[in-house]
Amino acid sequence: MMWTQTLSDFDDDTFHEECGVFGIFGNKDAATLTALGLHALQHRGQEAAGIVSFDGEHFNSERRPGLVADNFSSEKMINRLPGDNALGHVRYSTSGATINRNIQPLFADLSSGGFAIAHNGNLTNALTLRKELVSEGAIFQSTSDTEVILHLLAQSPKSRVVERFIDALKQIEGAYGLVALTNKKLIAARDPLGIRPLVLGKLGEAYIVCSETCALDIIGAEFDREVEPGEIIVITNDGLKSMNPFPPMPIRPCIFEYIYFARPDSRVGGKNIYEVRKRFGQELAKESPADADVVVPVPDSGTPAAIGYASAIGLPFDLGITRNHYVGRSFIEPTQQLRDMRVKLKHNANGGVVAGKKIVLVDDSIVRGTTSKKIVEMMRESGAREVHMRIGCPPIKFPCYYGIDTPDKNNLLAANYSLEEMTDLIGADSLGFLSIDGLYRAMGEKQRNPIVPQYTDHCFTGEYPTRLTDLATEPSHRQLSLLAETA
Ligand code: AMP
Repeated sequence: MMWTQTLSDFDDDTFHEECGVFGIFGNKDAATLTALGLHALQHRGQEAAGIVSFDGEHFNSERRPGLVADNFSSEKMINRLPGDNALGHVRYSTSGATINRNIQPLFADLSSGGFAIAHNGNLTNALTLRKELVSEGAIFQSTSDTEVILHLLAQSPKSRVVERFIDALKQIEGAYGLVALTNKKLIAARDPLGIRPLVLGKLGEAYIVCSETCALDIIGAEFDREVEPGEIIVITNDGLKSMNPFPPMPIRPCIFEYIYFARPDSRVGGKNIYEVRKRFGQELAKESPADADVVVPVPDSGTPAAIGYASAIGLPFDLGITRNHYVGRSFIEPTQQLRDMRVKLKHNANGGVVAGKKIVLVDDSIVRGTTSKKIVEMMRESGAREVHMRIGCPPIKFPCYYGIDTPDKNNLLAANYSLEEMTDLIGADSLGFLSIDGLYRAMGEKQRNPIVPQYTDHCFTGEYPTRLTDLATEPSHRQLSLLAETA
């Protein structure tokens, strides 16, 4: 394992991560099933993966940079992870080199015994807590916000592990889907606002807790229910216990899970992601029609919205862009030159479909504008007569502090330019975004509730649903990003 010295609070690639978690309790093939579950969650994190198992006596841990299939598909590897209970994590770190010690699940030997933890989300007071803990003598092994939870657990005056865990959760702010493994328990917790998703499933007698339903489907497990916002679930050989130690509050799931992050075949909040994305396209067609010959998706993320757009407007849908699926992030060094190449590595024009035509290009979102600019250019080079860009969500104007990789405000296209300027910058003939109410209509709401919105939509509105303690105390605190710099 490589150890890298921590130079400052912000020198590394952590604190802002997009991740997937998977825990299973009570199946003799726990590690294999976890590897499969992580495989289905690979879209949530492609940079590193890890599995911890418990075999009745020992915890076994394997954590690797790279894709799940490249690291966790061999018998040799699975044999190193014996036991009926296992916990896994996939991770998308942000810019800079991967620091191996940040790869999850993290593990600590507490006075109550071994404790492995995997986290999807981001804490908004981790840095503040960390500074306090360090000043009290804590020695951190990683720079991950998740490790703060382990220290809070270790310091809790409570005697039982679940009480300690609750104690820790009461001190953290932000978004989390957490799964933890002890020698006797699988413990899961979802943040009180339900910002990040977490679901519960069953495979025979075994329980599973994971980020998305697609991870249940891959192993043939049944979806039982969502873990409720603020709920803590404790699974032991005696079955499942549920508790909710937080005061009741209106829930605010992250709307960006529906727009981009979750896999189209997953169900989140009782909604099929693919169907919701098609409705984004339908609403977009009503709000922002275009006079064109054909609707072309930016694959894969823009495809469902483009299908919805084409059906609502009555235009043919055609695949004018081919996506190369073998472009992993893991082998691309984050240099400017390679960032500039990334869009071309990923997408290429199907010239025959676009030549001589007026096209509507549909994508799910614009972050920095890199993808849109390069793809519009590509369409023109392939002979498109007109290129009308349509985006299946509102303009992203505010960074995320809850674990979705959106860069700081300076790099968000829509935070810095008007619609007209953005149209010019990406080189399109016209540009249209879905409105915030259109977004909520597509989600099945009449409109966005202006008092307490039904979802967390801070990336569009700047209304953050929790305190941003670290940001308030450390204004330089920013979201590092994997997304390409503006070319
Ligand atoms: P950009 O090129 O910076 O405008 O990024 C927009 C493209 O990145 C769209 O095609 C999206 O599908 C995708 N995207 C949106 N949000 C994210 C994210 N948080 N992480 C990675 N890719 C994203």
